[in-house]
Amino acid sequence: MTRPRVGVVALQGGVREHIELLASLDAVPVPLKQPTDLLGPDGLRVDAVVLPGGESSTIDRLLKMFGLGEPLSEAIAAGLPTLGTCAGLIQLAARIEDPAPGQGCFGVLDVSVRRNAFGRQIDSAETRLETAWGPAQVAFIRAPEVVTYGSSVTPVATLHDRIVAVTQGSITGIAFHPELTGETLFHRRLLDSIA
Ligand code: GLN
Repeated sequence: MTRPRVGVVALQGGVREHIELLASLDAVPVPLKQPTDLLGPDGLRVDAVVLPGGESSTIDRLLKMFGLGEPLSEAIAAGLPTLGTCAGLIQLAARIEDPAPGQGCFGVLDVSVRRNAFGRQIDSAETRLETAWGPAQVAFIRAPEVVTYGSSVTPVATLHDRIVAVTQGSITGIAFHPELTGETLFHRRLLDSIA
């Protein structure tokens, strides 16, 4: 089987760790900046996509500036297997409860999110999470939480009774960083979901 090509939105934030983790799982990481990184003459250039963490309002601004946001959200809505981490989860959401001025989101994942939901309590912390898919060693950094979700969304993990991981069809959104601890669970599932 040919190695799957996985796009990694490479505008700002923790891009390199996702690229290294994907490469360690025998995928071909494809940094995405321009629309042409995503779309070639024959259609999509990638089999799946990862939206890394970072500063979600900055990433949103850069997605618009580079023109990548629209084709990317359309590809995700059309079924491209997708993993969004932290700011990536915020970008996928249908609604941000406390957006920065002018900040938008893709609206492809039927959740509302609240940014920086855990305050100083876990501003930055590594923890072992029990998820519906098994245990995961992950890092939380100014993490968002999922506040509400639609009937097509399944919660996958909670922390302190708050939802921090969800899935909806081909899309998974997680509020934390598995790539910083070398946790492969979510990336492996993304690769397994490629048809
Ligand atoms: N708090 C950040 C935001 O609102 C997300 C943090 C992260 O991605 N680690 O964009």
